[in-house]
Amino acid sequence: MIIAIDGPAASGKGTLGKRLAAHFGLRHLDTGLLYRAVAKALNDAGHYLEDRDSAVAAARALDPSQFDEKALKGHAIGEAASIVSAIPEVRAALLAFQRDFAAAPPGAVLDGRDIGTVICPDADVKIFVVAAPQERARRRAAELRDAGRRADEALILADILRRDERDRSRAIAPLKPAPDAHELDTTHLNVDAAVAAAIALVERTIKR
Ligand code: C5P
Repeated sequence: MIIAIDGPAASGKGTLGKRLAAHFGLRHLDTGLLYRAVAKALNDAGHYLEDRDSAVAAARALDPSQFDEKALKGHAIGEAASIVSAIPEVRAALLAFQRDFAAAPPGAVLDGRDIGTVICPDADVKIFVVAAPQERARRRAAELRDAGRRADEALILADILRRDERDRSRAIAPLKPAPDAHELDTTHLNVDAAVAAAIALVERTIKR
């Protein structure tokens, strides 16, 4: 079984993806980490994010088994990832890895922006997660504060809105629901309620 989860920044896709994978005995891939790792490699090497050749070389050289998730999850790297992810050759370089991951038994949950539309158009279940931007900013700020870091909710909201707009309006693989995706609005749901709703949605869909 393949479950595709897409949605805007800080919508809780990663948490849902992890919990759904554990529930159904599937593997999980947070595809945002791939784009974040490309951005970090460029930053570390002192290259501009718009440097196409270096970005493609970084994408081809990625070794996801060596990812340091904590180092990649920072707020600023998300913004940088959104810039490199608009480069078509970077997306092309990361395509096979994602499709191979999805196809390997026993199946997988992938979360990102283009999983249901481009990476796994034949996924068994497609979920498009949404939540009000203010609520997403509130959750992201709470996460940062829990980790002992300072967080300015208004700045986070502005970042989220800018990143969503860039991801939605790019020419290649824009953020949008697949026509056969089920929308899950988590604005008024806590994590457990969102997971329960997603599990129910998957079970209903595969029963059909
Ligand atoms: O999901 P996350 O916030 O970690 O993603 C970081 C950025 O990577 C997104 O803003 C988006 O530009 C890009 N991305 C993408 N396609 C995916 C996953 C992430 O373009 N499948």
